[in-house]
Amino acid sequence: MKSVCVYCGSSPGRQEAYSDAARDLARSLVDRNIRLVYGGASVGIMGLVADTVLQLGGQAVGVIPEALVRREVAHKHLTELHVTQSMHERKMLMAELSDGFIALPGGIGTLEELFEVWTWAQLGLHKKPCGLLNIAGYFDALTTFLDHAVAEQFVKQPHHSMLLVERDPEALLDRFGSYQPPAVTKWVEEDET
Ligand code: AMP
Repeated sequence: MKSVCVYCGSSPGRQEAYSDAARDLARSLVDRNIRLVYGGASVGIMGLVADTVLQLGGQAVGVIPEALVRREVAHKHLTELHVTQSMHERKMLMAELSDGFIALPGGIGTLEELFEVWTWAQLGLHKKPCGLLNIAGYFDALTTFLDHAVAEQFVKQPHHSMLLVERDPEALLDRFGSYQPPAVTKWVEEDET
């Protein structure tokens, strides 16, 4: 695995545990010689992951839409910074540049990015692993809701299981290394043939 995309908050969040987790993930990426791909901002958890990767001598690639360069304060010292025309182009390029996707705690943007790339995995548009780092129980309510979505038969268990959930970046990256996408497709008719 050469590059991993990290989705995370443009805010620091309330607890120090989120910043600690961002630094831990950055360290694990650098230790494994994995390049960081992320949203290119210098603020919040986003900036912290990139700063830590760079301080440790790793590579950090940012992808930011033109309209957000000022609002999210584009990071000025990245290995590479790609400025895109639109948010859609940004997310597409981040996905193309990456071999796997990890969400740290974040807000609406983080959730949207994770769910988009997980949806693409469910549809078989890519076979790359998607993971959630559940720091200080931040995503507990979300994982409970996803169990409910399976129980109510809107999500198939194999598609739920495609989202790898861990508390520790080392455990998550180990699982990325051995990840095999499920054979189950989204469509019932095809599953039954
Ligand atoms: P947040 O988690 O809301 O702090 O946002 C984290 C990142 O998600 C920021 O870089 C946002 O620009 C980005 N993001 C991605 N897609 C969207 C979207 N549809 N709306 C808002 N922000 C988004």
